Amino acid sequence: MEMKKEKPPQVRVVFDGIMRERFEKIKRYYGLQKNADLIRLLVTEKHEKLDLPLELPRFEQINSDENGVKILDRQIHKVADVYIKPEGMRCILDESDDCEHITFALSLPRIREIIKKHKREGWKLPDV
Ligand SMILES: [Zn+2]
Repeated sequence: MEMKKEKPPQVRVVFDGIMRERFEKIKRYYGLQKNADLIRLLVTEKHEKLDLPLELPRFEQINSDENGVKILDRQIHKVADVYIKPEGMRCILDESDDCEHITFALSLPRIREIIKKHKREGWKLPDV
């Protein structure tokens, strides 16, 4: 997870000789136009072949509406309901108005739009 903050890998490789032949053969085999697409495909295939676990993000938005958002927390294997109410934001799971689920909710564009709208109506919501 500490990789997240670093710049994503950018690869520049020159394929020459036998490697070029192999590269072109595989590219033709898959009918790909772009070299980068072949690299992506090869990384995906290798990942599957090695059966490495895919690191999923801790939080994932399950759904959202005008009332708030449902967040899957993979670390604690629970779903957090975060509500947007006139008196403020509320996480039902933590019974809190200041937890990581609320921080995550505030990062979601759709939720930010809803908050902005309600703030104009005088709701006591965080600045977004
Ligand atoms: Zn929470």
